[in-house]
Amino acid sequence: MEKAATNYKKVSLGNVDEVTRVTLHDDLALTGSEISINVLPAGISVPFVHAHRENEEVYLILSGRGQFYLDGEELAVTAGDVVRVDPAARRCMRADADSALRFVCIQARAGSLNRFTQDDGIPAEGKPSWM
Ligand code: ZN
Repeated sequence: MEKAATNYKKVSLGNVDEVTRVTLHDDLALTGSEISINVLPAGISVPFVHAHRENEEVYLILSGRGQFYLDGEELAVTAGDVVRVDPAARRCMRADADSALRFVCIQARAGSLNRFTQDDGIPAEGKPSWM
């Protein structure tokens, strides 16, 4: 018997500290964003500069140190930094020579968010076993 459709998807990445590159759009059937987990090994740069047609990007640095190139500026980043980038910004990044750079990148269409958190969340039926 086929399982009924659910309102969620779950994937397991295993030990996330060992993930070197994964995109979650397809596995999670994302409809409003793309999420990737990435690692640039020490001293390695993304080999191109890019911009986007309509998506803003948020880079959350999980560990390591590196450099962002953003519209001609170079910006140091380190674990805990979060950088939002407009679609049109020309960007590139590299890991410092002595440090791999691990980060999550979230892409979403700029200007598409109408509500969030308490403006979008609504009370719903149901009760977990721990309540
Ligand atoms: Zn991008």
